[in-house]
Amino acid sequence: MNVCYRLFGTLLFCVTIMAGTVSGEEKMSPKTKERSQIDEKHKWKLSDLYSSKAKWEEDLKKLSADVKAVQKCKGSLGNSIKKLASCLDRQFNLTKRHYRLHIYAMANNDQDARDSQGQALKSRIQKIGTEVEAALSFVEPEILRIPTKKMKTMLKSKRLKNYRHYLNNITRRRKHILTQKEEELIARAGNLAAVPSNVYRAISTLNLPYPEISLKNGEKVTLTPAMYTSYRAEVDRDDRLKVFQAFFGALNKFRESYAALLAGVVSRDSYYTKVRKYKSDLHSSLDRTNVPTDIYTNMIKQIRAARPLLWRFLKVRKKLLKLPELGYHDLYASIVPTVKMKYSYDKAQAILIEALAPLGEDYIAILKQAFTQRWSDVYPTKGKRSGAYSAGDAYDVHPFILLNYNDDYESMSTMAHEYGHAMHSYLSNKNQPFVLADYPTFVAEVASTVNENLLRLHLYANEKDRNKRLFLLGQHLENFRQTVFRQALFAEFELSIHDLAQQGQPLTADKLDQLYMKLLKEYYGDKDGIIQIHPLYAVEWAYIPHFYYNFYMFQYTTSFIAATAIAENIYAKDDKARDKYLKMLKSGGSKYPVQLLKIGGVDMSGSEPYKQAFLSMEQSLDEIDKLIAK
Ligand SMILES: [Zn+2]
Repeated sequence: MNVCYRLFGTLLFCVTIMAGTVSGEEKMSPKTKERSQIDEKHKWKLSDLYSSKAKWEEDLKKLSADVKAVQKCKGSLGNSIKKLASCLDRQFNLTKRHYRLHIYAMANNDQDARDSQGQALKSRIQKIGTEVEAALSFVEPEILRIPTKKMKTMLKSKRLKNYRHYLNNITRRRKHILTQKEEELIARAGNLAAVPSNVYRAISTLNLPYPEISLKNGEKVTLTPAMYTSYRAEVDRDDRLKVFQAFFGALNKFRESYAALLAGVVSRDSYYTKVRKYKSDLHSSLDRTNVPTDIYTNMIKQIRAARPLLWRFLKVRKKLLKLPELGYHDLYASIVPTVKMKYSYDKAQAILIEALAPLGEDYIAILKQAFTQRWSDVYPTKGKRSGAYSAGDAYDVHPFILLNYNDDYESMSTMAHEYGHAMHSYLSNKNQPFVLADYPTFVAEVASTVNENLLRLHLYANEKDRNKRLFLLGQHLENFRQTVFRQALFAEFELSIHDLAQQGQPLTADKLDQLYMKLLKEYYGDKDGIIQIHPLYAVEWAYIPHFYYNFYMFQYTTSFIAATAIAENIYAKDDKARDKYLKMLKSGGSKYPVQLLKIGGVDMSGSEPYKQAFLSMEQSLDEIDKLIAK
C-alpha cells in the first residue's frame, strides 16, 4: 500500500507501508551508488525545465518583479469583468511559473541533499514561495466582497469562462465567511490552533522514551514509530508479541497527555465549525473540497456490511501462519514464505506496457514516450530523497517522477503507482487550462491505484508458480485490510470523537480507549472469536498521526474502492468503462470531486462500486482457498 501526501502544488509524496517495509525509511546500504555512477538514461531530464541554472536564475528574477507588479490589482478585482479577468490571468500565470521554478529547485535538492547548489536553490524558492503567497493573499477575500448579484452577471461573460469553476468554488462558501475584522481575528489565532498537532509531533518523534527490546536472535531494537512499523511484521511470534507489548506499553504511559492533545485538536475543529456556522465538524471539513457528508457515512456503512469478508481473510491468515489462535499482533506477519520476485527496471518497463495495455494505445504511446524522454529518476543514490513521488507541476513541460527502484515487486508496484499519478497530471495538463488542471486529493489516488490493480491482475494471470500466486493474492487482500477496513475504522473513530465533543462529552484517555477498543472488536470480529485483542492495544489511537489531519483518511478508502471497481471493469475489456475513466483523467480539476468520479464511471454515494470492489476481494479469497487446498 502506498500512502501519499500533497507536499506542494501537485506533488504527491508517497511511502510504501506494506509487508513490514517502510520505503520512506530505507536503510542506506553501503552498496548505494554515487549519482555519477548512474547511466544518464536512468536520471530525470531536468534540462527540459531549464537548460542551465543561469536560466533558472533569470526566470526567478522575472518572477520576483512580477510578484510586485501583481499587487497593482489589489482593490480593483470587482471593478469590471475586464479587470477581474486580466488580474486572474496574471495570478495564474505567476503561480504556473512559480511551480515550474519550484520543481526544478526541489528536484535538484532531492536528487542529492548533500549538493550545496541544490540546497541554495531550495531555500531561495521557499523564500519566494512565501512572497508569492503573501502577494496573492488579497485575491480570495476580494472576490468574496464582490456582491452576489454582480458576480452572477460577471460569471456569464465569455471572458471569464475558464475561471467560472474557480470563482464558483470560492463564492459557494460565502455564507461561512465572516466580516473582514472577524476573519482577521480568526487568522491571528492560527498559531494557537496549531499547538496540539505541533506538540503531538514533538512528543512522538523526539521526546517519547521509546523502549529498547532484544529479539530472539540477540538483535537490539529501539522501537520508534518507524521501527515499530518495520518490526511488527517479525517472523517469530514471540518477537512480534514483544514488539507490540513494548511499543504500546510506552504509549500507554503517556495516555493522558495524548488524550489532552487529541481533545485539543478536536476543540480546534469544533471552534471553526461554530464560528463558521456549520452543522458539524464533518460538514465543515468536507465543505473545503465540496464533498457531501453522506459520501463519508455511506462509506462507513458499506465497509461495515462487508466485514464478513475481512473475517474470512483473517481465518486464512490464521491457517497459513499455523496459529492456535489469531492475536492482534499477528496481523502484519507475512502470510506466505518470502518469495523473491526480481524485476530489473527494463523488465518492469516492459511489464507495465503489457499490464496497462487495456487503457488503450494512446495511453501506452505516452507511457513509452515518458520512458524514453526520461521523466523519472530511477535508482537510489547517496544523498537522494527516499520514498517516491510524482510532480505534475511543470504545466508546459511534463511530469517528473522520483523513484528508488530496487529490482523487487514493491518497486515495480510503486512505479505503476507513480506513473498513474504522472499520467493523470499529463492528461489533465494537456486538456485543461492551468487554472483547472490540478485535480483534487479526493480523486488523486484513483489513477495510481487503478495502475497497481491492473499490474496485479496482469501478473496473476501470467503466473504459474503457486507461492508467487499466493504472494500476489496476499498483497491484494492485505491492501483491503489496511486501506479499506483499517482506514474505515479510523474514519469512524474520528467521526465519533468529534460527535462526542459536540455533545459536550469530555475526551478522556479512558473514553478514547473504550471507544477505540469497541471499534477494534467490531471490525476485527473479537466477539465472534476470530481474533483476540489484548486490552493494551486500545491505546493505538495515540499512534495514528492522521487524527490530527481533520477528516483526511476516508479518501484512502473511497479511492481504493473506486479504483478497484474501475480496474476490474477495464481489465474485463469494458471499453465504455475505459473511455469514462480516461475522460475523468482528462477532466483534471474542472469539476467537484464527486462529479469527477461520476465522469469516471463510479458513483460513491451508492453501493455499486463497493459491491464490485468486494466481489474482487471475494474472488481473491476463493482463489487463495483453492491454492491452499492444493
Ligand atoms: Zn499516490
